[in-house]
Amino acid sequence: MILVLGKNGQVGGALAKLLGSGEVAFDSQEINLTQPDFTDRLTVLFQQHDFSTIINAAAYTQVDKAESEPELAMRINGNAVGELAGWCKTHDVTLVHYSTDYVFDGSGTKPHTEEEATAPLSVYGESKLRGERLITESGAEHLIVRTSWVYDASGKNFFTTMRRLFMEREELKIVADQAGAPTYAPHLARATLAALEAAKKTEHFPSGIYHLCGGSETSWYGFARAILGLASGHESGIKCRQLQPIPTCEYPTEALRPLNSRLDCTKAETTFGVRLPHWEDALKECYESIRLRH
Ligand code: NDP
Repeated sequence: MILVLGKNGQVGGALAKLLGSGEVAFDSQEINLTQPDFTDRLTVLFQQHDFSTIINAAAYTQVDKAESEPELAMRINGNAVGELAGWCKTHDVTLVHYSTDYVFDGSGTKPHTEEEATAPLSVYGESKLRGERLITESGAEHLIVRTSWVYDASGKNFFTTMRRLFMEREELKIVADQAGAPTYAPHLARATLAALEAAKKTEHFPSGIYHLCGGSETSWYGFARAILGLASGHESGIKCRQLQPIPTCEYPTEALRPLNSRLDCTKAETTFGVRLPHWEDALKECYESIRLRH
């Protein structure tokens, strides 16, 4: 049995859907990582459900807001994750946890490997890195999955924001000098479960950090162009006629973001035989899911 935290989120929701009756999933009402005694609640749930793995998809994900709420971000993404990992170690439960490309400073142009030095540019990146370190130090059996640019058809993300703006504006300026890979939440959830299954089959559980994101790479501008291409073909009421590529410096945000968000996913592929589809194929699948819903 698997326990999922963050069931209302993009990744947590996709996990809960895939696992169906093989899971128990909770939102922040049921288990709140800001509460100092949230692990007591886990102990009660453990007695009721006897799960062997926790997948933590809960997180403080408001990258810009974190700059003005560093303590809350650090609590949810850092110290609470350490307490969760400590609880997992004590109860012999495997912990799967998500982290981010924002642990890197984004220098260079090559995809980052898991072994590369981290140097977050933002409070959010710093808080996620703290969570990673505390898990590693806990001694719990774990997989830390670093991913990037997560979206689905209904969450609050770049994809849904673009779809809305295409209906409202004739022209949009989009950052073109940040490179990375959009990651479709249902694909990430599927790959996570496949990696976990493969890890559980190994003689010595391969605890560690693994990169898992959509295949190939693009920029936010490239992603927006692809979304516009699909939207123009499928949706009525699209106003947007022009996308203008701009550098990051022309779109200032509270939190700095890495220019190079590319993640090298070779380790997950060689260890678990897991690879996510090309980001453009994933985008088409996401669009298809919207069409099927209507
Ligand atoms: P979402 O923002 O979609 O969901 C996060 C969930 O965390 C929410 O459902 C929320 O629950 C829950 N949550 C927030 N605060 C608390 C709390 N105090 N206690 C318990 N639960 C809480 O996140 P994603 O699915 O996009 O992200 C999943 C993981 O992937 C995260 O670890 C994130 O850092 C990482 N990631 C995400 C990226 C992205 O682009 N989104 C990129 C790289 C990594 P509720 O709704 O019940 O309040």
